[in-house]
Amino acid sequence: MAGEPQADCLFCKIVAGDVPATIVRETKTTVAFRDINPQAPTHVLVIPKVHHPDAASLAAAEPQIAADVLREAGEVAAEEKIDGTGFRIVFNTGSGAGQTVFHAHAHVLGGRGLNWPPG
Ligand code: 5GP
Repeated sequence: MAGEPQADCLFCKIVAGDVPATIVRETKTTVAFRDINPQAPTHVLVIPKVHHPDAASLAAAEPQIAADVLREAGEVAAEEKIDGTGFRIVFNTGSGAGQTVFHAHAHVLGGRGLNWPPG
C-alpha cells in the first residue's frame, strides 16, 4: 500500500533504525540525516517517514507531509547556518535526473558557492 515501509528500501531502513545514519533532526513525519557522500560542506537529506518513490508522488498522495519535508529543509539550513549565504533544496526525480534512492528525499546543500544551472 502507498506509504507503507518497503523491505528493500534503504531509507525505510534508516527510518526504522536498521541502517545507521547521522541524524540531525527528526519530527513525527520526517528524518534529516547527513549524506554519506557529501557534495558540499553541508549536505543533508530530509525524508518523509512514509515511503513514496519520489517527491512528486509524495506531494500527490500526502501533501501535508511534502510540506513538512520542505519546512524541515529550511530548519536544517537555519541550524547549519547556511540560510544567510544561500542554499539549495534539490529533489532529483527519476533516474534520468540522477535519482538513485527511490524513497522521496530533499537534498539540502550549502556552505560553498552553487552555480546555476547545476549541469
Ligand atoms: P539521489 O541520487 O537519489 O538523489 O540521492 C541519494 C543520496 O543518498 C545520494 O546523495 C547518496 O550519497 C545518499 N546515500 C546513499 N546511500 C546512503 C546511506 O547509506 N547513508 C546515507 N546517509 N546516505 C546515502
